[in-house]
Amino acid sequence: MTKKQNTIKPYLLWVLLLCALLLSSCVAQAVQETGPESGTETLTRDTEEQTRDLESPTETEGAESKSPDTETERAETETETGQESGDYRFERGVYSYEDLQSDLAKLESDFPDLFSYASAGLSADGRELYVYTVGSPDSKRILLVTASMHGREYLTTPLVLQQTHRFLTLAKEGAQEYAGALSELSICVFPMVNPDGVTLSQKGLEGIRSETLRKKIQSIYASDYAAGVMNLPLERYLPYWKANANGVDLNRNCDALWEQYRGMQAPSMANFKGTEPASEPETRILTGWVKEKVGAGKEILFSLCMHAQGEVIYWNCGQSGESKELHLHLAQLIADTTKYAVDMEPENDASFSDWCVLEMGIPAVTVEVGKGSAPLPGEQLQVIASQNRDLWPALIRFFRAA
Ligand SMILES: [Zn+2]
Repeated sequence: MTKKQNTIKPYLLWVLLLCALLLSSCVAQAVQETGPESGTETLTRDTEEQTRDLESPTETEGAESKSPDTETERAETETETGQESGDYRFERGVYSYEDLQSDLAKLESDFPDLFSYASAGLSADGRELYVYTVGSPDSKRILLVTASMHGREYLTTPLVLQQTHRFLTLAKEGAQEYAGALSELSICVFPMVNPDGVTLSQKGLEGIRSETLRKKIQSIYASDYAAGVMNLPLERYLPYWKANANGVDLNRNCDALWEQYRGMQAPSMANFKGTEPASEPETRILTGWVKEKVGAGKEILFSLCMHAQGEVIYWNCGQSGESKELHLHLAQLIADTTKYAVDMEPENDASFSDWCVLEMGIPAVTVEVGKGSAPLPGEQLQVIASQNRDLWPALIRFFRAA
């Protein structure tokens, strides 16, 4: 008996061991196939990316937050969770040109009757300058909105995309104020006037496609460094880039008070007005679009220029009489809505707002969102979005009543 037990026991142990091995191998394979682990990995990567998106390239961090790792991970995430997944990207603090392309396509597919977009032309580095319409493209009256005219102020793009999505959602649901507004006017938006500057600020030199422009930017860096504009290594200097890829400040390149603007005397990361008014493709595309609409008999009711930073509203380019009254009123309306301060001093010359007011007779106000210095930390996006939530509706109420 004892002997028999002794011979059976090792046999049973071997069987048990074999079963355990088989079972663990099956479980491992099932996990790999059904993918709870891979799901967790995706989630972790997304969370990491969101966290990184919330980091701002500040003085001390510079371009560290734009390491190639981020690029690779962003590309991977795009492949995994891009358009197919149906997710909007406008909650990202670091919102790229590619994010914009993805969201525009999705908005058009989600709101085919209320949203359309097109390219108005190409930037210096060959990116599209998109313009989209909320409402009917046949509408005679237009509210014009521009964002990301300055590269490092790219937080203004996801801001206007969020405003757009909210407006479209409410209009589609039949909310009287929103649907009614779109029967009387349309909102036309240039969400990224300076896609090259945005890309340069977010991704550094490797974001620029043209070898000639990359060399030019390096030489601008050298001259800015020599002039003491910013004494930082190249990779930490580029996040602060405001200009287009030619080193021209698009908001100092418009044909209004251009002669009297001084600023920088050579191409620079900021404040160089160019060799002549509208020397830059982006300026010509934007002002050309306005002229074309006006020429076609459309009325541009108002031009709202979104910039960052300072929580301040600029309206003054030397208007007098009725125009001054109107601009003061509009600035105050925006201040009441956003709680930003109205600045009474004249804005820098040759801005797009100057051009709208002085050359085209279109009322225009520049709104600077956010606290601190651009590029603003991504976590400010939701605060800024809530401050500006009622901005478009408030302006539209005013113009519908006027
Ligand atoms: Zn700006």
